[in-house]
Amino acid sequence: MALQFYNTLTKRKEEFKSIEHGIVRMYTCGPTVYDYAHIGNFRTYIFEDLLRRYLKYKGYKVIQVMNITDVDDKTIRGARREGVSLGEYTARYKKAFFEDIDTLGIERAEYYPCATEHIPEMLAIIRKLVEKGVAYKADDGSIYFRVSSFPNYGMLSGKRIGELRPSGRVKADEYAKEEIYDFALWKAWDEDDGDVWWESEFGRGRPGWHIECSAMSMKYLGESFDIHTGGVDNIFPHHENEIAQSESATGKKFVNYWLHSAHLIVNGQKMSKSLGNFYTLRDIIQMGYSPLQIRYLLISTHYRMCLNFTFDGLKASSAALDRLAEFIHMLEHLSSDEVEDNPDIANIITQMKKDFEKNLDDDLNIAPAIGSIFESLTHLNIIIRTKGISRNDAKRVQGLFAKFDLVLGIVPKTELDDLEIARLVELRDIARKNKNYAEADKIRDELLRRGIIVEDTPKGTIWRKRI
Ligand code: AMP
Ligand code: ZN
Repeated sequence: MALQFYNTLTKRKEEFKSIEHGIVRMYTCGPTVYDYAHIGNFRTYIFEDLLRRYLKYKGYKVIQVMNITDVDDKTIRGARREGVSLGEYTARYKKAFFEDIDTLGIERAEYYPCATEHIPEMLAIIRKLVEKGVAYKADDGSIYFRVSSFPNYGMLSGKRIGELRPSGRVKADEYAKEEIYDFALWKAWDEDDGDVWWESEFGRGRPGWHIECSAMSMKYLGESFDIHTGGVDNIFPHHENEIAQSESATGKKFVNYWLHSAHLIVNGQKMSKSLGNFYTLRDIIQMGYSPLQIRYLLISTHYRMCLNFTFDGLKASSAALDRLAEFIHMLEHLSSDEVEDNPDIANIITQMKKDFEKNLDDDLNIAPAIGSIFESLTHLNIIIRTKGISRNDAKRVQGLFAKFDLVLGIVPKTELDDLEIARLVELRDIARKNKNYAEADKIRDELLRRGIIVEDTPKGTIWRKRI
């Protein structure tokens, strides 16, 4: 089966074909840096990471752009609340964002353009739209896109513009889903903007949110590119508006495949800042969960299904990771020159690879892809425990897991480096000093599982690698 994705634009699964052979150009709506990202945001970023990594696995060169929205209604409000400059305010959250994606093992995109550094590119598009008569200056001095000028408006979200006349104008970046409005491309400065403005031929002001993504995607990826992603909440109005303004400006198809991830939810509701039902990545790590556990939880549900976040789910992901770690550890330590290569193991390896690719080719169907890895792991375990495993076979199994892990990023590192060992030993010492023996034992067991033996001597704790 060829690689296929569900395309929000056509509402069906389609075979993926890139515009340029061997290269995928993709744009992912990035964070608005007004606060720490919550794990709902990371659900979407992890989906995009899986997509990127699988495209690379399939042999594509990926050129990915993720924008950083560092000027919009929310960032300006935040900076003003704290009485700091917009740049100072957003720098803090930009830095946190990059730290967080590293923590979760999210691969870096090729470009992270910031909105504030692309104002001329945005103005160039607005100029074109005004010249074509599809954008106009309203009484408030702002420039709006005339939605009724774009007959295909609604093709992504399914809204029927033919029947619904645009019901006015909206300057806000985010607005009610029920109504179709002419939306702001350039917002005339008002008092709420404080010292945030740019001079332009349209007067002093700042760009709307939607135009940011059109300008930055087309600058780095061209007027037509392969994939655009985001969470489902981006479909309307954000992505619908991106299509309308981009295609009106260029006269070309903007994007071929639109992929959207469903929400991470808590008690049936979308995790979001405005509902207050959110955890940042840092919150959860502080509670003692590992980045790998969080990554596993976020990646293991199909991206088009809602992911119900619970702490039980996080705990369950730790059990799965432990199984993987144990297996890999066993491979490293039980393989032997005395055992012959086993054709059953060779068959399992071939089948595992086939299953993995068959499932991920099918719109990144991750649950059966991971499921079949664990099923094969059970079979391999039985063979290894009863018949042992040759060094050669062990290497091939390890090689296969390493290949899968280029896509999943969930296989725990079994070989700790000396620094990590020292850190864990120190944490154990602290726990012992605090008479927290349960915690100290937990760390000792963790070290043991990773092949490190700790001994408490009158001179302090020493450790050695198990042979
Ligand atoms: P924002 O910073 O609000 O612009 O969101 C950044 C990305 O996170 C967008 O692609 C959103 O669609 C996505 N997102 C926001 N909340 C959630 C959620 N609860 N579950 C999944 N994705 C989300
Ligand atoms: Zn966007």
